Amino acid sequence: MTKKTSTIGKISTGRPPIVVILGHVDHGKTTLLDYIRQTHRAASEAGGITQSIGAYQATFQDKSITFIDTPGHAAFSKMRSRGASIADVAVLVVAADDGVKPQTLESIKHLKEAAIPYVVAINKIDKPDSNPEVAKAELTQAEVFVEGYGGNVPFVLISGKTGKGIDSLLETILLLAELEEVQGDTQGALEAPIIEAHKDNHRGYIVSAIVRQGMLRIGDHIHAGTANGKLKAMYNDAGKQVLEALPGTPVQLLGWDSLPGVGEVVTSGVYVPNEEVVVATTPISQSGQHLNIILKADTRGSLEAIMGSFPAEVNIVDSSTGDINESDVLLASTTGSIILGFNSKATSSIKKLAEVEHVKILSHKIIYELLEFIEKKILRLLEPNYDEKVLGEGLILKVFEINRDKIAGVKVGSGKLETGNTIHLKHTDGTTKDARIKAMRIGKDEVKIAESGVECGILLFPNIEIREKDVIISYQKAEGELL
Ligand code: GDP
Repeated sequence: MTKKTSTIGKISTGRPPIVVILGHVDHGKTTLLDYIRQTHRAASEAGGITQSIGAYQATFQDKSITFIDTPGHAAFSKMRSRGASIADVAVLVVAADDGVKPQTLESIKHLKEAAIPYVVAINKIDKPDSNPEVAKAELTQAEVFVEGYGGNVPFVLISGKTGKGIDSLLETILLLAELEEVQGDTQGALEAPIIEAHKDNHRGYIVSAIVRQGMLRIGDHIHAGTANGKLKAMYNDAGKQVLEALPGTPVQLLGWDSLPGVGEVVTSGVYVPNEEVVVATTPISQSGQHLNIILKADTRGSLEAIMGSFPAEVNIVDSSTGDINESDVLLASTTGSIILGFNSKATSSIKKLAEVEHVKILSHKIIYELLEFIEKKILRLLEPNYDEKVLGEGLILKVFEINRDKIAGVKVGSGKLETGNTIHLKHTDGTTKDARIKAMRIGKDEVKIAESGVECGILLFPNIEIREKDVIISYQKAEGELL
């Protein structure tokens, strides 16, 4: 399965700053973001496929910086107004050949309202017709007073195309973050603003968020607005599965019951309003043996009916309504669970994924059948021989040794024994070993079958220890019960 990276044990208070880039269309925001991502790839992205999850982490001078990279996105104007509160630091991009434009003014308004520190990046300085001085003068008119123009707003001359000045820009961002004392306590209450959210037919609701404070871990109960869920799978900006996310990290979260809105903040806790997603952990039986189940059903009514009838050995890792999706399979893989579907389908691509992840999916259309299956599975867990059909039994009367082979002199008591049969060898103290019948003789004749009442010599494979009074039980797995 996909390699999972773990960062458990790291506790940081100063977290990577979250940076948003604002500015007029075509002034070079995307070009700048692409340039930084390509030239300052974070360690987390090594080997990964560059994916857009709405934000990415870059590394500069051994420090991480998280960039929100959604300009041009349909949700951007909404995000931009809220973006200021998501981000710690902003970059206002102004093209040196175009100066201050309507969206530059709009961006300035948002920045002032949110009162977050920002740096002006005067872009496209490689262009022959660029004129940074005009841009600065226009900024003054818009009441952005850059250094040297009666103010202390830092500015950097850059080219997103050639990369000129970008290191100075990153340095300025880190400096602003340092002055701002950007903090993100891993122990604090989770606060992860949402930057993107959409529904995927195969994967369910997919939400991108950046952890500002606290930590996110697989299995967490998550909430945002009216949406709830249990965190089933999490991906970083390189598309790799992660088990937890530290402050400053952008992640994609799977496991939602509905679609939360961009700008809403993901929190975690145990409280689940409306009980839309039921997460019940049934006490595990005394024996400690339990069966991890992810239950999917078509309606809440059937979910409740099924869960109410489960034996105590069933540990419900997760339960929800709807079809079986990718995040169910991933959660099953992480937790060693079986997915049980009641009137809940799995597409062929989901079945394929389950095969790759070695996850068992079982679908039933009748509650009784599903419960019967569970009962049998539990019995098998507690009594491993439960679903075996005994074919024959024989008592060892004597043990001979011929050419270093141990031969059991057996009287067949019931049924019949056959070469090739799998057997349990039961010692007088009740312990058992497993083997197979390799060869049998009656008198001098090699035989394939020894019927009840017959005395025969049996050679087992492998060469396990056999004693007088041990019992050989030949068995077959009951058909249709295999799982
Ligand atoms: P956005 O709308 O702000 O995201 O702007 P884009 O990044 O899409 O850039 C708009 C256009 O300007 C594209 O054709 C870019 O190739 C070009 N561009 C962006 N940055 C630079 C730069 O620094 N120099 C030059 N010469 N062109 C640039």
